Amino acid sequence: MYYFDHSATTPIHPIVLERVHQVQKHLYGNPSSIHQKGRDARSIIEKSRNQIASAIGAEPNKIIFTSGGTESNNQVLWSRLGEKKNHIISNKIEHPAIIGTLKFLKNHNIDYDLCKVNSKGIISLNNIKNNIKSNTGLITVMLANNEIGSIQPIKKIVRIAKGKKIAVHSDAVQCLGKIKLNVKDIGVDFLSLSAHKFYGPKGIGILYIKDKSSISPYLIGGGQEFGLRGGTEDAASIAGMGLAAEIAIKNLNQKIKHLNILESKFIAGLKIIYPKAILNGNKQNKLPGLISVSFPGFRSDILMAKLDRLGIYVSNGAACGSGDIKPSTVLKAISLSTELNISTLRFSFGITNSKSQIEYLLKKLKEILI
Ligand code: PLP
Repeated sequence: MYYFDHSATTPIHPIVLERVHQVQKHLYGNPSSIHQKGRDARSIIEKSRNQIASAIGAEPNKIIFTSGGTESNNQVLWSRLGEKKNHIISNKIEHPAIIGTLKFLKNHNIDYDLCKVNSKGIISLNNIKNNIKSNTGLITVMLANNEIGSIQPIKKIVRIAKGKKIAVHSDAVQCLGKIKLNVKDIGVDFLSLSAHKFYGPKGIGILYIKDKSSISPYLIGGGQEFGLRGGTEDAASIAGMGLAAEIAIKNLNQKIKHLNILESKFIAGLKIIYPKAILNGNKQNKLPGLISVSFPGFRSDILMAKLDRLGIYVSNGAACGSGDIKPSTVLKAISLSTELNISTLRFSFGITNSKSQIEYLLKKLKEILI
């Protein structure tokens, strides 16, 4: 099996899986129950809150558990409903959990502007400044992009926003375990993470909230998570996520180095087997191990299907269904022609990939391309 699609999701770490099973089997109490079974589940949850907090340099009481990146992003945006400062600034290469939500909220008295990005996928700071209005209440910019890996200058964005008393949210779903992450250093007000992107379980994530009075619950229920996220907590998934976060930041530099070695090997090989390949996005300030490549003259869905038949799993930015291929909005935003857009594959390497797997990938790509 040759899995090179870690930006879509990662396989759960074996130790994390074991932990999830263990909690599911033995610690089934409702964390809100006051008896021993409940208290046991509660202490598992609080342990995980501590693990996540220390992975991102936050205080534990500023983390709430959600169902993942989509929900965390939604909660931040929906919280602007009913606020006087109902204008939001974002950009053209955000995940659909941001752009789709903004489009929806436009029908509910939320106004927004999407800033441009340059050909490397970096947001224009001037464009942000020019879009600020007297009623701008939030700037939401992802820390790193999921299709091309470009890392945004969030600290600079925070500096612009703070001068105008505007809150900043960052979707950092792609980042834990790939770059250093410290919410205090970055200075954001809100940050979203999702466990399945860092070898944790699916359907669980967090939202970091600097000031709890600045946000409202998205799911209203039994008052869980400081009253900011109703619903009985999934202690098993939460425990798995906490452990996955702890593992993700352990030996981070070594992990980054490993991903960079795989990436360099792949790029060097690609240049030999197919010199016409075009690398998209930022070459320097990007996520390690995520490479967006256009193969002029080839359709990405066909390339993907051929690789799939060989047990090699990658993805294309383009969403395709029923034979149609729809260009990726991210690649469009970095000014890639439609022809190249629909010829683009994303390779995203992970910690269990090896050099010999990259060699196999290159060998098979060569057979397909030549
Ligand atoms: N944001 C980004 C940048 C992502 O890559 C993803 C996942 O694809 C999400 C948000 C959604 O996260 P989740 O799958 O946890 O809802």
